[in-house]
Amino acid sequence: MQLTPIGIIHTPYKEKFAIPRQPGLVKQAQGEIHLCTAFADANAFRGIDAFSHLWLLFQFHQTAQRGWSPLVRPPRLGGNAKLGVFATRSTHRPNAIGLSVVENLGIEQQKGQLLLKVRGMDLMDGTPILDIKPYLPYADAIPDASGGFANTAPAPDMQVHYAAEVIPSLLKAERQSPGITDLIKQVLAQDPRPAYKKKQHETQEFGMHLGRFNIRWQVRQQESLVIEIQTV
Ligand code: SAM
Repeated sequence: MQLTPIGIIHTPYKEKFAIPRQPGLVKQAQGEIHLCTAFADANAFRGIDAFSHLWLLFQFHQTAQRGWSPLVRPPRLGGNAKLGVFATRSTHRPNAIGLSVVENLGIEQQKGQLLLKVRGMDLMDGTPILDIKPYLPYADAIPDASGGFANTAPAPDMQVHYAAEVIPSLLKAERQSPGITDLIKQVLAQDPRPAYKKKQHETQEFGMHLGRFNIRWQVRQQESLVIEIQTV
């Protein structure tokens, strides 16, 4: 079996670290699927505007070569408990296929290229998209379903603040990329630190590459403080 990507998604998430663990958690994040020439046919998207949400099937391209393991450690369980890969949404799975529901912002023609705009995805920049399907509420939403160890959405449990000395670079960043202030806040509210780092000393700094910026922050008394924003 051979799969051919239909497009590549461009997102603000330039590295794996700090990408939300499921779609819909960071609503500010917008992405664009650039369709490959063979699939950039407007006819293939006729009617898609009628759907508010879409399923994306994609390849975990960044980790696919690591193969799969039968037991994985879901971060939601603190990173110690092991569960079967098919009882989780882990990236370390056979065929490395991911599945995310995203908001449909519409299909557009831009500089001769066909692209589909989406919002709320949990995909890294450059992820190959294998298929797109409409989300069907009557079939896909099951209100009384049980969600195992992830029965409810993780509460964004971090307050996020900007240090006074970072405000000038934040204002500049907001002029360059409108919405970046909220995007940084929503990403950090998810507390992307790995479980074992949450126990470490408060002065430790963390960094992420988000959109056109390198962001650095510290966690002090269960609140995140953004201390540096640099244009890449
Ligand atoms: N919603 C999808 C699913 O259930 O199949 C993905 C869930 S997976 C737990 C989400 C994580 O995948 C993100 O937090 C990020 O670390 C990772 N990820 C996103 N895009 C990736 C890619 N292209 N290659 C490898 N890992 C990726």
